[in-house]
Order: sequence, then C-alpha cells, then structure tokens
Amino acid sequence: MDLIKSKYWSNRIKDNEAYVPGEQINEDTYIKLNANENPYPPSKNAQNAIQQMDKSKLRLYPDFGCHKLRTEIAKYYNIKTDEVFVGNGSDEVLAFSFLAFFNPGDYICSPNVTYSFYIVYASFFNLRYKPIPLDADFNIVLNDLFIDNGGLIIANPNALTGKIVSINFIENILKKNINSLIIIDEAYIDFGGDSAAGLIKKYPNLLIIQTFSKSRSLAGLRIGFALGNKDLIEGLNRVKNSINSYTLDSIAIVGAAAALKDKNYFKLITNKIIDTREKISRKLKDLGFIVTDSKANFIFISYPGINAKRIYMLLKERKILVRYFEVSGIDNFLRVSIGTNEQMEYFFKSIKEIIENFKG
Ligand code: PMP
Repeated sequence: MDLIKSKYWSNRIKDNEAYVPGEQINEDTYIKLNANENPYPPSKNAQNAIQQMDKSKLRLYPDFGCHKLRTEIAKYYNIKTDEVFVGNGSDEVLAFSFLAFFNPGDYICSPNVTYSFYIVYASFFNLRYKPIPLDADFNIVLNDLFIDNGGLIIANPNALTGKIVSINFIENILKKNINSLIIIDEAYIDFGGDSAAGLIKKYPNLLIIQTFSKSRSLAGLRIGFALGNKDLIEGLNRVKNSINSYTLDSIAIVGAAAALKDKNYFKLITNKIIDTREKISRKLKDLGFIVTDSKANFIFISYPGINAKRIYMLLKERKILVRYFEVSGIDNFLRVSIGTNEQMEYFFKSIKEIIENFKG
C-alpha cells in the first residue's frame, strides 16, 4: 500500500485496497509466465486490419455503440446484437456489471479462491463480499451456493486453479438463484471448457463475461464483452453512458472484429496451448508436483515440502516470471501461465534443477 496519502483523496480511495496486476517487466529478457497472456502473436487478420485502417479517421469519435464488433460477436454466438455489450477489457465489463446489477449493502458471493478483482470491486462499490470456500481439492461445492445473496459471480474456469464446472452445474445455480444476477466470468473458457452462452435465452438472470485478452491474444488492445438478455445489456449501457460513452477506441473495434473472423488461427493457437498445458502438467506431476486439473491457459502447482515463494524467487533469478500469491490457503502454490513449448521446456528444466537442489 502507498504510504503517502493526500488529504484530497475521497474516502472511497483512502479505504480501498486496489488490485495489483502481475509485473510487466522487459519481455525480451524474461520468460513471462505471470499474467496469463497468450505467447503467440494476434491473428494476422487483426494485425492487417489495424495496419490498413484509414488513420485520418482517428479525428472522429468511434461508434459509441460498437455496432460492427457487437454484430460479429453476436454472429459467433448465434445471438442478437442487442444481447452483446463490449468494453475496455473484461475488467471494465466486470466493474460496470457490479455497478449495474448489485446494490450497496447486499452480499455479493463468489467461490473463493477466485479472481481477486471481484473483492476489490465489491469494496470499492460499497457492496459486502461473502466468500464461499472451496473444498480441500479446490472444487466449488454446489450446495454451498444455494444461499441468500445479492449477486453471485463465478469464474469458470476458476481463476488461480483453472478448475471448471459443467453447464449443468451452472444451470442448477441459475435455477436456485432466480432473484439475483449470476455472472459467469469465462475469461479462460476457450482453453477446453464449454461456454454457458447458450443459456442466456433461457435465464434472464445470467450474464456471461469474456475477453479477447487470452484466447485471442489481444491483451494489449483491451477488449472484453458480456452476453445476456437485452435488458441486462441495456443496464450495462446505462452505466457506460454515465461514465464514458467511448470506452473502446476505433483501433480496438477494428482489430477485435477481424480477430474474431480468423477462426482457423484461433483454433490453432488454443489447441497448441492446450497441448502444451497437458504436456507440462504430466511432467510436473511425474516430478512430484501437485497440479490442479486446469482447463485454462495456466496451471496451479505446488511441491509438497518446498516453499513456493522460494521457488518463485529462484525462477525469477533464472529470468522466469510466474505468479505467487501471499494468501493463506494458497501460499504454497504458484500460478504458471502456459507459454510456447520451448518456453515451457526451459521452465521445466529450471524448476527441476531447483527442486533437485533443494533435495540434494
Ligand atoms: N477475469 C479473470 C478471471 C481474469 O483472470 C482476468 C485477467 N486478469 C480478467 C477477467 C480480466 O481480463 P481483461 O481485462 O484483460 O479482459
């Protein structure tokens, strides 16, 4: 936390502990496995579309309705354009959703451990947050979610663990919580899970949130989106138009629409990441690591008896960045994003040496 506080700060920021993203240090000298970025470049379609844009048009505001991009997303999911909202990264879409659908004082619940930004938003927007503990193997317990709540948010696959729940599981939650809004954060769904997007027509209390940052390799362009019935989307537009009508710039709109059309490249890179994930998971298990069954572009690992923070620091000395969270219950785990095959081979060689040095 910053020690310097200004007397001009509002109580809202004085009292709020902000989210801390993974370090962004010089990529060329480090193997960066700490922010769940995609190791492959974005689709050439997207790169060319951005290159070919008429830059003189940048004098104009972008289309505040982002109609072309929303239409492409709607086509992709076989839904209507007015069932799609787009924003500046899914973090923004999440923040807007908390503002649009949750009331101050109400309990917002999520399985925990989870994406820590949910807790930041809850506190920042004066909501109360109730964590629903996972079981000892990091599974979400369905019955524990049948509680009174002012809103429920589930990352699927779950952030940190990569573990997934089925569509059937989600449908059970939706049925039991018909009076509150359920957000399913599908940031990592394209790495081996099934999206619950098909349920939005049946359940007016469902909002799906996704991102172009992971499977579409466009973290730098900042595009996230939400799928839900048109009244929910209208609610999000009300928030957006009360804060900033033009959250997506013209370049992002063009690049994202082009990326979405390049289905072959999308399949190619997501499959590569899945293959690499399965390969490294097997090798780490053989070495003695606990590895959660991840369906995301990262793995969550622990070596019994060896301090995870030490491993994190020794990897960093070898120019490999992974993510360590000093949080009770997970403080002996590391979250490792899936890089290219070559990067993961180097990661494996390094972590194997570190473990052997500890033992020796
Ligand atoms: N949800 C989850 C579960 C995440 O891990 C992330 C990435 N940190 C996000 C949302 C936000 O992604 P972005 O803002 O890049 O779309």
